[in-house]
Amino acid sequence: MSELIENVSSNFIWINGEFVKSADANIHVLTHSLHYSGSVYEGERAYKGKVFKLHEHTERLLKSAECFGMYVDYSVEEIKAITYDLLARNGLDYAYVRPLIWRGAESMKIYTPDLSTNFMIAAIKSKNDFKTNVKLNVGKWRKANPNALPPQAKSAAHYGMSIATLVNSQKEGYDDSLMLDYEGFIAECTVSNIFFGKGKNIITPIPDRFLNGITRQSVIEMAKNLGFQVLEERIALPQLTDYDFCFITGTAKEIVGVGKIDADTISYKFPDSDKTTEFLQAEFAKMVGK
Ligand code: PMP
Repeated sequence: MSELIENVSSNFIWINGEFVKSADANIHVLTHSLHYSGSVYEGERAYKGKVFKLHEHTERLLKSAECFGMYVDYSVEEIKAITYDLLARNGLDYAYVRPLIWRGAESMKIYTPDLSTNFMIAAIKSKNDFKTNVKLNVGKWRKANPNALPPQAKSAAHYGMSIATLVNSQKEGYDDSLMLDYEGFIAECTVSNIFFGKGKNIITPIPDRFLNGITRQSVIEMAKNLGFQVLEERIALPQLTDYDFCFITGTAKEIVGVGKIDADTISYKFPDSDKTTEFLQAEFAKMVGK
């Protein structure tokens, strides 16, 4: 049994209004969202018992659900209270929290209003160690045009592509992949946003074609307060030779330093001469109360 599954099975999960042991939190194999990718979810992190930006994550969850026509009978404040109750019942201070909203197993039709909306929240013990020097390749699949799927909805529908990309990336010995947008500009990684920098200047792609991560927004604000200039731009691969450091951000990974990105014919290296990524990681730890 993997470490993750072991952790999950010892915990309580909140599902459709009740706290149950995770082994009893089961769903039907004909669950609509399992077949048609219609679920929406969040990834949240608790530090010393407090979930970073829980309000923002919860609002995004409900907005994502709305994009797919799903509504739950709980307000943002009620969901926040359930989340803290769940952490307390599981005795968790440091945790990864996963709320998920999905359609039930009442029909195999691609869409019918007869389908129920279901809601669960799980929390597993998790404390992340900061990483640096990870290696990326450039994924062969491009992010969907924002006209194809709402980019700010954290829907399982987006993640088929991230998984297909990661399968290749790991087969080739990389830690993750940089994904390009539909026009070939730099977008993000499979589950994180990306930044490039030199000295006190940082650039990051404009988040109109991919998820504008909550960590991304927090790190931009933090970096500006620390005296960095942060610009949002369309960025093409050849521009990367201008930068000395690169890092990715996301709730699960927090801030991870990137050592190199391998494109078809060229390898972009980020020596991070001033150890800016480590500096930002230390400041991030203070910000989230790690
Ligand atoms: N992009 C994608 C595709 C992601 O899955 C995530 C993780 N939620 C992010 C960016 C980072 O978002 P956040 O900082 O809100 O976790």
